[in-house]
Amino acid sequence: MSQEQTLSIDAFHWHIGLLQNLDVGLVVLDQDHKIHLWNTFMANHSGRTDSEVREQDLFQLFPELPKDWFRRKLETVFMLRNRAFITWQERPYLFHFKPDRPITGKADHMYQNVTLIPLTSPDGTVRHVGVLIYDMTDAAMSHLDLEVANQELSRLSRTDRLTGLFNRGYWEECLEHEHDRFLRSGNTSSLIMLDIDHFKQINDTFGHPAGDEAIRRLAELIREHTRSTDTPGRYGGEEFGILLPDTPADRAEILAERLRKAAQNTVVVHEGERIQFTISLGIAEASGENGEHTGWLSRADEALYHSKQNGRNQTTIS
Ligand code: GH3
Ligand code: MG
Ligand code: MG
Repeated sequence: MSQEQTLSIDAFHWHIGLLQNLDVGLVVLDQDHKIHLWNTFMANHSGRTDSEVREQDLFQLFPELPKDWFRRKLETVFMLRNRAFITWQERPYLFHFKPDRPITGKADHMYQNVTLIPLTSPDGTVRHVGVLIYDMTDAAMSHLDLEVANQELSRLSRTDRLTGLFNRGYWEECLEHEHDRFLRSGNTSSLIMLDIDHFKQINDTFGHPAGDEAIRRLAELIREHTRSTDTPGRYGGEEFGILLPDTPADRAEILAERLRKAAQNTVVVHEGERIQFTISLGIAEASGENGEHTGWLSRADEALYHSKQNGRNQTTIS
């Protein structure tokens, strides 16, 4: 054997060794989906050795594979002789493998990127496709963690710390949004503004933490009395707004009065002290007359002011 031949045989073995030990899944399929190569990565993760799967139909061995979809992908590669890529974002995995580090990771499967490569035979035809499987679990996990953190961050930026309701900034965005929706659809929506009566006295008599407790209790009452389609928010210190989509003022008044009576009948116990309070409310239906959403808010505020002037513990419709 010539030195050159020895070298090329050596090189062939090196290639096989490298492919076998690559930290990437490597599969070669023919046009009938028969397996011609199955490296160590695939054997370790699937629990099936190369000799078990060789010459076998991929879809028979792995009936859980998305057959129609993956067959179409393979056909395209055979036909166009172009590579194809599938990312974990499109489809989390092709082969359902357990992740490598199930203890540190929270993933219950390995996330995979998949590349399909047309393999040209010496005669120039493409009768085989190479399938590369990349373990993307770490990247996917940090990406998903980041998404969860971002969602939490955006939830926090919308939320009032004391009450858990929407804060003023976000609630006003909702108001503006609802006003725009009203201008487009013409469906009647109502807005309730409400404020605790003589709240300064509560603070002065029982202390600021007791006042906080009263605010929190009122927020709970608001939550209990509204539906999931309503949007309550904390507008200021002890002032709240409730947006009621598709609700005329007379129906908003029913809710307002229920809430007013519930507040009146509530006793907040703070450090042994029994605290009672009442609320005043103002209602305004959306109308295009005042232009922007701020006009709508002003009308509800004026109605609330009227309730205050008129003796408090009551509801006024604008
Ligand atoms: P009115 O019946 O006219 O509404 O009288 P009021 O005493 O409630 O008057 P006003 O609305 O002007 O007073 C609100 C007070 O609420 C003033 C402020 O010290 C207090 N306040 C604002 N934010 C908070 C808070 O987060 N916690 C507590 N405990 N008090 C607050
Ligand atoms: Mg007040
Ligand atoms: Mg106030």
